[in-house]
Amino acid sequence: MLYKRSSQLFAEAEKVIPGGVNSPVRAFKAVGGTPIFVKSAKGAYMYDEDGNRLIDYINSWGPMVLGHAYEPVVNAVIEKAKLGTSFGMPTELETQIAALAVAMVPNIDKIRFVNSGTEACMSAVRLARGFTKKDKIIKFAGCYHGHSDSFLIQAGSGAITFGSPNSPGVTAGTAKDTLLATYNDLDNVAALIEANKNEIAAIIVEPVAGNMGCIPPNKGFLEGLRQMCTDNGILLIFDEVMTGFRLARGGVQELLNIKADIVCFGKVIGGGLPVGAFAAREEIMNYLAPLGPVYQAGTLSGNPLAMAAGLAMLQALDSDPTIFKRLEEKTAYLHAGIDRVLKAHNIVFTINRIGSMISVHFDSNPVTDFKSAAKGDNERFKKFFHGLLNEGVYIAPSAYETWFITDALSYEDLDFTIAAINKVAQTL
Ligand SMILES: *Cc1c(COP(=O)(O)O)cnc(C)c1O
Repeated sequence: MLYKRSSQLFAEAEKVIPGGVNSPVRAFKAVGGTPIFVKSAKGAYMYDEDGNRLIDYINSWGPMVLGHAYEPVVNAVIEKAKLGTSFGMPTELETQIAALAVAMVPNIDKIRFVNSGTEACMSAVRLARGFTKKDKIIKFAGCYHGHSDSFLIQAGSGAITFGSPNSPGVTAGTAKDTLLATYNDLDNVAALIEANKNEIAAIIVEPVAGNMGCIPPNKGFLEGLRQMCTDNGILLIFDEVMTGFRLARGGVQELLNIKADIVCFGKVIGGGLPVGAFAAREEIMNYLAPLGPVYQAGTLSGNPLAMAAGLAMLQALDSDPTIFKRLEEKTAYLHAGIDRVLKAHNIVFTINRIGSMISVHFDSNPVTDFKSAAKGDNERFKKFFHGLLNEGVYIAPSAYETWFITDALSYEDLDFTIAAINKVAQTL
């Protein structure tokens, strides 16, 4: 395939946008080459500026669970736009989407809408701190909760030992209140709680991790976190920005039957427009301004176009209970196909999957936390990525990303993808 125009557009973008992209994950830094510029997308396909068709396994990093340019969403946005795009005053639409979200998700009474997953997680932590009157939080290495200061603490012994910021610009003062734990390791969490008695406001976790590839929780992990939180007056925050409205109608709380205290949303909840949200039982949510003392606000929060898109998306997911089963079946089919062709070529790999989240790691060991996820063969992944791209299959340009399956994918598309992987596997 040729990417002449994309390369030219990237060169232009680099002059006026740092790295040519407005979010670093879009860059091809980890795989080499230049990013592809999209012109349009429909269903399971994206079309780039050079006229290539790509089968899309990123789907805007999650939101397009029913495919691109999903008509009910597009129409809702067009109709709303004609009536004005922002008022800074309440609209009936906000109550409609809030009521539907509260009906779909277990254990929440009230929800507040923001503009991104980052905002949702950042606000959830502030709310947890205000509610518990404690300062520290526990997060897990390899889990991503957006780019706000307290979350940019990742792996590395320095960070673990000293709480040293892992991105310049995060102050040591902020970093010291974020304690880093190992995913799927309850003993580690128990030790942190013991060492910081009565200081921990919240544990924030991706209940199914999706930002170090896909890593499902081990049996008992979430149950253990729930128990420790209850025992120690700590709030359990489920960051369901990726999993919410994707793995089940009510997210991981429903899928694995675990109660969180605060739940964060993003991605699917906006149907492709900039939306995030956080939700909890009434007692906690009433701590927010204007009812309570914890301040949180947004000029464009609850924006009518965003709410129209989100409502159309949630209505579609709510009205067809077979969607999640269908997504799971398609992903299982892809899983079996990839497994078959990689084995046939004697390639060492591990596939993790739950529902419509799947990732392929080029390593034979079980991938259960950040450390094991980081062991994958990156050189092999680079070849895999570019090989698939050349066949017209687009996966994320990083070995640490989950593939997002959309209901718009047909079994022909999945067969096409498996055949492409078979072809690429010969070159790995
Ligand atoms: C994407 C993501 C975020 C951040 O959401 P943005 O809308 O990019 O700010 C937070 N948490 C998880 C689990 C995510 O996958």
